[in-house]
Amino acid sequence: MPIKTSDEYIDSIRQLKRKIYCMGERVESSVDHPLMRPSLDAAALTYELAHDPEHKELLTAKSTLTGDTVNRFTHIVHSKEDLTKKVKMLRLMGQKTGVCFQRCAGLDAMNAVYSSTYDIDQKQGTEYHKRFRNFLTRVQQEDMIVDAAMTDPKGDRSLSPGQQADPDLFLHIVEERKEGIVVRGAKAHQTGALNSHEILVMPTMALKEEDKQYAVMFAVPADTEGIVYIYGRQPSDLRSLDTGDGSDIDKGNPKYGGQEALIVFDDIFVPRDRIFMMHECEFVGPLVERFACYHRMSYGGCKVGVGDTIIGATASIAEYNGTEKVSHIKEKIVEMTYLNELMYAAGLSAASEAAPLPSGAYWVDPVLANVCKLSVTELPFQIARIAQDVAGGAMVTIPSGKDLHSPEVGHLVEKYFKGVDGVPTRDRLKILRYIENACLGRGALAYLTESVHGAGSPQAQRVMIRRFSNIEHKKRLVRDIVGID
Ligand code: SF4
Ligand code: FE
Repeated sequence: MPIKTSDEYIDSIRQLKRKIYCMGERVESSVDHPLMRPSLDAAALTYELAHDPEHKELLTAKSTLTGDTVNRFTHIVHSKEDLTKKVKMLRLMGQKTGVCFQRCAGLDAMNAVYSSTYDIDQKQGTEYHKRFRNFLTRVQQEDMIVDAAMTDPKGDRSLSPGQQADPDLFLHIVEERKEGIVVRGAKAHQTGALNSHEILVMPTMALKEEDKQYAVMFAVPADTEGIVYIYGRQPSDLRSLDTGDGSDIDKGNPKYGGQEALIVFDDIFVPRDRIFMMHECEFVGPLVERFACYHRMSYGGCKVGVGDTIIGATASIAEYNGTEKVSHIKEKIVEMTYLNELMYAAGLSAASEAAPLPSGAYWVDPVLANVCKLSVTELPFQIARIAQDVAGGAMVTIPSGKDLHSPEVGHLVEKYFKGVDGVPTRDRLKILRYIENACLGRGALAYLTESVHGAGSPQAQRVMIRRFSNIEHKKRLVRDIVGID
């Protein structure tokens, strides 16, 4: 069975020879770096749960390419059930990690590229789809993580790629050879970049014919010569460097984290059999749309799972504070649950209204997927607000966990930060720090900022809702009822 264990996955990342920079310094191995390790462990859980008897049904799928059982994070969706299981899997992963576990962006990109290459071949007689199937078969057989490299740095947002003062602000082809192409540029905000085996590069927006050098799609191994990674900072990230008694409390989420990086492609050679699009501008818009919609539906799973942990933390702190039976606190927990399940309902409905594309792969309902993501740009902020309301100001004023372990003042922290009798002060501090992390610290990057901008900023969802919602049909409905020809 081609499914790696989490140890095998971590070993495989350790073997990559890459040029990584973090806070001004070259990093030899991302695996052992304290800032990066929490994100690796979150990604590794996608492997661990695929072997867990309780969860492997959700975390695995039968490959439509080989018939083998593969990790669902590499699976091309061929039914509504596949899509529904994906949303459920992402919620489960959010519940287990409380962060962005990074692997779904690549999954959604592979699904978008699969059907897009099929469409290009049908119209142009190219062989991109065959090449992509070969690539995908390897990804499934070797159970790889694929980074979805779509977002270009973009420079001046009012200018098209070719109009930029620096042409490299959008990744483009700089040389064409018989055996392949050379590309230059960068991809920004790359989720899970350092935890990936392959980088799947796609254009970032619809392109006109004059920008055809930017219409390029390909995959390269993550340790290809010439690739440079520059790690992104996160709020409160230095807490991950803390060691010693009590430091786990201060981290808020002591096990897991997310990760973003800038990936620079400094004249990378891409062999022909790894190119999945070259100059076909008319197919770029639909490709971007497909990826965006798949990923916008995904947020109705992962963010809901993280929301479950925040609701759990809020209910716990109410219990530890002795406020759990107060009526407005109970109502607030209900409100959080209502908001959280609304996002889940939108994600599931986008799956249940999915339809097949010419390739046989299924695509989500685009209106519902965008409604899902648009609600994710707003509702987690309401949930986080209630969490902070119920937690109280102590969430940001309590002393360090190290003070709890101090021989001089530990007994004072123990005494004065205690809640109800029978709950150790240590547990109360842990929950307060978890809420702080999720709403203001490293976790807030995934739960709040990424909820706004990941898979496209809110206005991008409004544009697609307008495009796909068929207002003319709605106008006809009312004309029929009132009798207007
Ligand atoms: Fe997956 Fe959610 Fe992270 Fe996107 S934001 S990669 S869907 S966990
Ligand atoms: Fe994301």
